[in-house]
Amino acid sequence: MKKVLNNNSLHQFLIVIVLLITCFIAFNSSIAFSKPYLDNQQSIPIKRPINFLSLEESADTICNMIQKVGGKPTVNEKRATLKKNETLSSALKRIDFDNNSINKIIQAIKDVYDGKKILTTLPVGMIIDYSNPSKLTGGAIKLSYTKTKDVFVWQDVNNNYFSQIYLRPTKLENILIKGKIQSNLYVSALKEGVPENTLLEMISLLGFSVDFQREIRKGDDFEIIFTKKIDLLKNIIIETNPITYVSLNLSGNKLNFFNYEDKYGLPQYYDENGKSSKRTIMKTPINGARLSSGYGNRKHPILGYTKMHRGLDFAAPLGTPVLAAGDGVVEKAGWNGSYGKYIRIRHTGTYKTAYAHLSGFNKNVRIGKRVLQGKTIGYVGSSGRSTGPHLHYEVLRNNKQINPVKIKLPAGKNVSKKDIHDYRKHILNILNQKIALEKSIQNKKIATNVLINKNSKLN
Ligand SMILES: [Zn+2]
Repeated sequence: MKKVLNNNSLHQFLIVIVLLITCFIAFNSSIAFSKPYLDNQQSIPIKRPINFLSLEESADTICNMIQKVGGKPTVNEKRATLKKNETLSSALKRIDFDNNSINKIIQAIKDVYDGKKILTTLPVGMIIDYSNPSKLTGGAIKLSYTKTKDVFVWQDVNNNYFSQIYLRPTKLENILIKGKIQSNLYVSALKEGVPENTLLEMISLLGFSVDFQREIRKGDDFEIIFTKKIDLLKNIIIETNPITYVSLNLSGNKLNFFNYEDKYGLPQYYDENGKSSKRTIMKTPINGARLSSGYGNRKHPILGYTKMHRGLDFAAPLGTPVLAAGDGVVEKAGWNGSYGKYIRIRHTGTYKTAYAHLSGFNKNVRIGKRVLQGKTIGYVGSSGRSTGPHLHYEVLRNNKQINPVKIKLPAGKNVSKKDIHDYRKHILNILNQKIALEKSIQNKKIATNVLINKNSKLN
């Protein structure tokens, strides 16, 4: 008994579901066929997809669009652009559409999904491909209203107007660009064809480790791999994906960064060892030292009066290694008055760090040389005006000392031990991709040369 009841309720449930689906289809089709095809001779409705993923592909010309939809043939295809303060109606008026056609065209667009919104958000400068209606030929317009979509309006043989949204065909392409820097990275990369937004991404990701103002020399080179989406009809880039790989060769020092998406799918960049591109400056550039004097006002141990202390003092035994607080270039390494033996490193265009009272310098530390974060640059001493072995450490922002504790440079997390194996495989894939792209560039060059040779022989 219970079972029968259950079966009955199951049936009722199924009936309700079927009804709901039917309603849904009916509802959808009222949108899906923006205008019920009233023409008697033709009973097949023109399908209007709701889902943008299932949109049909657009074609390059109105003539080809008409062939796609089977509309009234057009002649004399023309092109105009939407001007400032113009509505579609006023634009159509300007390009000689009569009022009756204009009204029908606007209505046809209103009938497509989101049509009213499309009409109120048409961008200035939008391309309007059109063909004026006449007795023998059909009226049609194609609006490239977004980067990826067209709305097409056409007439059938009975002079009714219809409208549909089309997706412009696109292609994703991986691009490798290599170049030499002439004067600055920005100008040279732009000249080599790196799109501007990709270039800005490149600069912001390299900005943690490179001082673009001073560190880049003529003849330094760069490499970049990125993906672009091309509009096949217009042959223009619609969008670029985040950079895959970037490399900068600074007078022999090579910086490489690889995109390795985080769990949220956001681009993160790391060097070949999995170290994050987002580098901060170390607040304590020495191991096992004790902070003996903080930043701020204090009574000076030698001079006796209260003085602003614009750095941090770390008490440590003589000879304790002092580390570079960040990647950068040595700006000064030598005697500097009361600072004694002194090193200053320039990290970015904005940040520098200074190390004073040293007993000696690492032999690799020379003015103009690049140093890496965490590498030994010198040794704790008591040179200059100092009471005992300690490191006096300063952080400078725009050449003014700031409290190192308050540095706001974000530090990125490095690739975790758990992921490092996967990361190595990932960068190997990118490097293989690079080799493949290099080969295809090479092949293109050979093909072009063959063509040039052939042509010159013909001449
Ligand atoms: Zn000090």
